[in-house]
Amino acid sequence: MSTPHEIPSYLTPRDIGPWGVYLEQIDRVTPYLGSLARWVETLKRPKRILIVDVPIERDDGSIAHFEGYRVQHNTSRGPGKGGVRFHQDVTLSEVMALSAWMTVKNAAVNVPYGGAKGGIRVDPKTLSQGELQRMTRRYTSEINIIIGPNKDIPAPDVNTNEKVMAWMMDTYSMNMGSTVSGVVTGKPISLGGSLGRQEATGRGVYVVGCEAAAKRGLEIKGARVAIQGFGNVGGVAARLFAEAGAKVVAVQDHVTTVMRDSGIDIPALQKHVAEHGSVDGFKGAELVRDRNSFWEVDCDILIPAALEQQISEVNANKIRASIILEGANGPTTPAADDILNEKGVLVVPDVIANAGGVTVSYFEWVQDFSSFFWTEDEINQRLTRIMREAFSAVWQLAQEKEVSLRTAAFIVACTRVLQAREMRGLYP
Ligand code: GLU
Repeated sequence: MSTPHEIPSYLTPRDIGPWGVYLEQIDRVTPYLGSLARWVETLKRPKRILIVDVPIERDDGSIAHFEGYRVQHNTSRGPGKGGVRFHQDVTLSEVMALSAWMTVKNAAVNVPYGGAKGGIRVDPKTLSQGELQRMTRRYTSEINIIIGPNKDIPAPDVNTNEKVMAWMMDTYSMNMGSTVSGVVTGKPISLGGSLGRQEATGRGVYVVGCEAAAKRGLEIKGARVAIQGFGNVGGVAARLFAEAGAKVVAVQDHVTTVMRDSGIDIPALQKHVAEHGSVDGFKGAELVRDRNSFWEVDCDILIPAALEQQISEVNANKIRASIILEGANGPTTPAADDILNEKGVLVVPDVIANAGGVTVSYFEWVQDFSSFFWTEDEINQRLTRIMREAFSAVWQLAQEKEVSLRTAAFIVACTRVLQAREMRGLYP
C-alpha cells in the first residue's frame, strides 16, 4: 500500500485487510474528483456499523454464539443495499470493504441505492438446516432495527441463497406484523422474487465479458476461459461462455482445481457439483492438486468469482489471460492492479463486472413495490442494456483520462455519490 491509512479505532492494523485495499482505491481516484474531493472523507468512513451476537440452540442442546455484522457504508443516493455472507473468515474489515464496494457498484451502474453489506462468521456447512434457519432468523431479528425496504435491503452473497432470503423476509415480516416482501431481494419467485435474479450476476459477467472481448478483438467462440469459483456467479458465467462456444479450460473451487485443454463439459460438471458439493472427483477433466498452478493456466479470459484478494503481487505476473472479469468482489489487490496494467491485461473491475446481481435486485424491489411482475425476457433485456451502457461509459472515460477501467469506474461512481452528498449538504 502506497500511503498509510488512518485506522479506525475498532480495527487493528493486523485486520485492516480488504478495507485497506478499498482505501487505497479511493486514494487513487481522489485526484480525479476535482472540487468534490473535499467530500472524499465521507467515502472513507462507513455511515453505520452494527455488530450483533447471534446465539442459537444447537440440535444437540448446546448453545452456540456467532458474530454477525451489518454495515451501511453510504446512503447518500438511496437506501443501503447489499448481500449477506455466511463464511468462517468473515471479519468486520471485510464487511466494511464489501459494503463500500456496494456503494461504488450501485453508483457505477446508476441504481438508486447506497451501499451496505452483512455477514456472519460461521461455516454454514457445519450447521444442520434447522440450525441454519435459527441462526438466520436470530440474525435478522438482531439487525431488524436498521433494515427495511426504504432503509437497507439485504440479498444473497457467498453461501446464502433464496431459502435464506425467504427466512429473512418472513422473520422481518413477523416482527412487523405484515408481509414486507421488499425488505430483501433474491427471494424465491413465489414470494415476490424476480425472474432472472438467480443467474443475473453470472449473466452480467458474461455480458461485460463480450463487450471487453470485442474491444480486444477476441472472438468468444473458441476463447479459452478459466474460472475460480463455481457457485452462483462462476457456475452461471461458465455455462453462458460455454454456450457461446468458448472453451472453459480450468475451474477451481474451494476444494480443488479441474482442467481440460479441449474444454470442460460444463453441464456435466454442474451435475457433478450438485451431487458432490465440489468439482473434486469429476471424471471429465484432469484433477490438479496444486492450487497455485490455476493462475498460470493458458487462457484468454480469467474470471475470479470467489473471494477477495486472490490476485496479488505474488501471482499477478504469472497470469496469461488478456482479459480479467472480476465476478468476485475485491479479488485484485492494488499492487496486482499495477502489475496487470503494466502487462496490458484488461481488468474489468468488480463494481461493473458483477453488478448484474444488484441490478436485477433493483428490478425485484421495484416489482415488489408495484406488485407487477415482468417477464424474464424484459428483465434480461434491461439487464443487458444497463450492463452495456455502464461498461461503455467507463470504457470511454478510461480512454479519455488514460486510466484503468477500475479508476474510471471509481471516477464515475464516486462523482455520483459525492455530488449527491454535496447537494444534500451536511446536517445540521
Ligand atoms: N451480493 C451481491 C453483490 O455483491 C448482490 C447484492 C444485492 O443484490 O443487493 O453484488
